[in-house]
Amino acid sequence: MKFAVTSKGDSKSDKLVDVIKTYLLDFELEYDEEEPDIVISVGGDGTLLYAFHRYSSRLDKTAFVGMHTGHLGFYADWTPDALEKLVIAVAKTSYKPVEYPLLEVVVHYQGEEKATRYLALNESTVKSIEGTFVMDVEIKGEHFERFRGDGLCISTPSGSTAYNKALGGAIVHPSLEAIQLAEMASINNRVFRTVGSPLILPAHHTCVLKPVNGQKFQISVDHLTLLHKEVKSIQYRVADEKIRFARYRSFPFWKRVHDSFISE
Ligand code: NAP
Ligand code: MN
Repeated sequence: MKFAVTSKGDSKSDKLVDVIKTYLLDFELEYDEEEPDIVISVGGDGTLLYAFHRYSSRLDKTAFVGMHTGHLGFYADWTPDALEKLVIAVAKTSYKPVEYPLLEVVVHYQGEEKATRYLALNESTVKSIEGTFVMDVEIKGEHFERFRGDGLCISTPSGSTAYNKALGGAIVHPSLEAIQLAEMASINNRVFRTVGSPLILPAHHTCVLKPVNGQKFQISVDHLTLLHKEVKSIQYRVADEKIRFARYRSFPFWKRVHDSFISE
């Protein structure tokens, strides 16, 4: 089996990466940064987001596992004290694959055939660069609402505990194939009206945003934020691809939610 290890870049994570690498090489696993079967990310959830994007072109061939060196993470749910247990599990046992849904983002531009496609593990947000953010929101090909406000956030189930949660979105179990649309400070009065609640869409219900005011938008995909000009539409749906986690022991999602947000 070929493995890679990624680090948050701080000295604690770098040291753990060295230890993991040494152990796994001793167990005669092959280190392959280009084409790993398993990627161990050490740091935080952000570190696993980076690892996901680094290997997003080979999701069908790579499994992920995360260790946290700061607070408990949703993706990074192994503690450094369990390092030896994890290393032995990776080297000597087979894992239970657990798959989580991803978000597909397709940006179309004015007068261009070519579109840009991204995959998000957490979410994609859209905000205006100048002036009020005004978007026509279409769901499954039908006009739903004209949104005015700060922006919109479309998240995956596993991303629902991140930015989406701060916006008052629901926490969605990652076994559900869905995406969630959450509002950022919508303008609601007698003239302007939005639904006001987060919406959870099933797989294959595409959500399309069409700019009404301006064409320049700041579009984020997880930690990456880019300025897009001449935007014609942004299309969101549950991606065909999934991320696969290597599960060696049970740590149920609701327990991770409890331990992260209520108490350990
Ligand atoms: P960051 O600024 O370090 O991330 C913000 C926090 O979100 C960190 O504590 C991070 O955990 C945590 N986080 C990431 N994914 C999560 C998940 N799926 N569930 C629960 N918490 C999660 O930046 P980053 O590490 O590059 O992460 C990028 C993410 O930050 C974005 O995808 C977005 O979700 C989030 N974000 C949140 C807000 C907000 O809540 N208002 C605003 C902007 C961005 P670690 O410390 O373990 O990395
Ligand atoms: Mn982070």
